[in-house]
Amino acid sequence: MHDKTRDVIVVGGGISGLTTAWHLKKAGVDVTLLEAKETVGGCTRTDRVDGFLLEKGPFNVMIRDPAFEDLIDGVSGHVNIIRAEESAKKRYIYRRGRLMPVPSGPFGLMTTPLLPFGGRCRLLAGLLVSARPRHGEETIEQAATRRFGRAACDTLVSAVIAGIFAGDIRKLSLSACFPSAGRIDASARSLLVYGLRQALRAARRNKNRRRRRWRGLVSIDGGLGALTGALGAALGADLLIGRRTEAIRQTANGFELDIGPPGADRKTLRCHRLVIATSRPEAVRLLRPVVPVAANVVDSIESASLVVLNLGYRRSDVGHPMDGFGFLVPGNEPEFPLMGALFADSVFPHHAPDDRRLLRVFIGGARDPGAVDRPDDELVATATCRLRDLLEIRGEPVLVDVCRYKEAIPQYHLGHGEKIARLRTAVDAIPGLHVVGNYQGGVSLNDCVRLATETARDLIGAGVIACASAPVRKAGMNQESRAVVSA
Ligand SMILES: Cc1cc2nc3c(=O)[nH]c(=O)nc-3n(C[C@H](O)[C@H](O)[C@H](O)COP(=O)(O)OP(=O)(O)OC[C@H]3O[C@@H](n4cnc5c(N)ncnc54)[C@H](O)[C@@H]3O)c2cc1C
Repeated sequence: MHDKTRDVIVVGGGISGLTTAWHLKKAGVDVTLLEAKETVGGCTRTDRVDGFLLEKGPFNVMIRDPAFEDLIDGVSGHVNIIRAEESAKKRYIYRRGRLMPVPSGPFGLMTTPLLPFGGRCRLLAGLLVSARPRHGEETIEQAATRRFGRAACDTLVSAVIAGIFAGDIRKLSLSACFPSAGRIDASARSLLVYGLRQALRAARRNKNRRRRRWRGLVSIDGGLGALTGALGAALGADLLIGRRTEAIRQTANGFELDIGPPGADRKTLRCHRLVIATSRPEAVRLLRPVVPVAANVVDSIESASLVVLNLGYRRSDVGHPMDGFGFLVPGNEPEFPLMGALFADSVFPHHAPDDRRLLRVFIGGARDPGAVDRPDDELVATATCRLRDLLEIRGEPVLVDVCRYKEAIPQYHLGHGEKIARLRTAVDAIPGLHVVGNYQGGVSLNDCVRLATETARDLIGAGVIACASAPVRKAGMNQESRAVVSA
């Protein structure tokens, strides 16, 4: 390995690190990306098996930010974006042994069997007018019961949060997980009036605004792994795979990194500026010797583990239409061992051959933290047994794929905003050091791309500014944090 001092090294080749490095390279910055594994992508991985397209980690993107659109534009010669089927708007919730459609509109809310009569009235009344928060930061459970009542919170809200954060609504902070929902909650007595006002304002503003090209759920035709693959390919020789960063040291004019296993194969690389873009547990380990306060803060952020099972069936073996996006399981169904399942080929038909169906099942999360350590056959038996009755499945799966994600979804619990502010202060005190990743500005791909893009812009700006000896500004971390296990 060449021993020059590089300008920027990015450690970690998931979507966060790839996006940062890709922007830097495009701007002509001398950048090297180090990825521990033999392939880039991190938890964004796509496999093709027997005609199925298997998304092993993320499944879709909800594009809410120009940063993601710009990234797609930048690699548009290599990837094609595809929209989810219109029918994917239909969603189900598991309740008392059945799948029930999630209600939409006032009539649906008034008649849904998901809630008792009193729960429906309370929900509708809460939409019309309800109390604002009185005492600062609240959990999602506190805010949802205050606004919509206990029944709607336990059935509708808890199911949605399971799908987004795989988390516990009694601990997750509304303002940290959903900053704009937190702001609306703090300012509006009537959510209905607020919604109508916003719709009117948006209609007036829209003429002058940059047009959003993709609305709703999207993916890439070759799977999301094709996006990370294209970003990696664009880095060319500046991407070094199979190079785990073992340790980092601060030096007089930057950083020194030990790469690879101890012994003869270990190399030392030097750089002026360093971006840590690993998963949260690895960031803790790498930050510890350089900035222990930051390491402690990142360490204090809990993460949920989960298992993704891709199960393929013969189309003729499945009685349920499996129409729509899939189903989620609320917290008030503790006996049901799945968090939910997506009807993958109903959302993106090319994910399964015509005569097959593909289910993407989630087990674990905050409700069942031990699931990630259970043997494959136990997990598969649990899932297939429960799905058999629910979806009227007659035969055995023709494809089984088990993927474990340990400590993969950071949980933005009460106090998360303060933690990120402390992290920011500690990292800012080390010139040239930056951290990106899903434990800060949102868990979804969209949010990871936004933070990485801001960080790259700051690094590019700082490169120019540094010549004029001006102070370096770093990317903010107070972004909308919308995580998506299933959007
Ligand atoms: C099962 C699952 C489903 C999800 N579904 C969705 C979804 O549908 N939509 C959505 O928007 N989001 C989804 N998410 C969230 C989103 O995918 C992640 O938050 C995001 O991909 C995280 O990207 P990252 O680059 O920050 O981290 P990672 O993807 O974890 O990448 C970190 C990289 O760093 C590398 N690395 C670690 N240590 C070192 C080291 N010491 N040296 C060098 N390299 C190192 C790793 O090998 C890895 O490649 C899902 C997440 C999971 C786990």
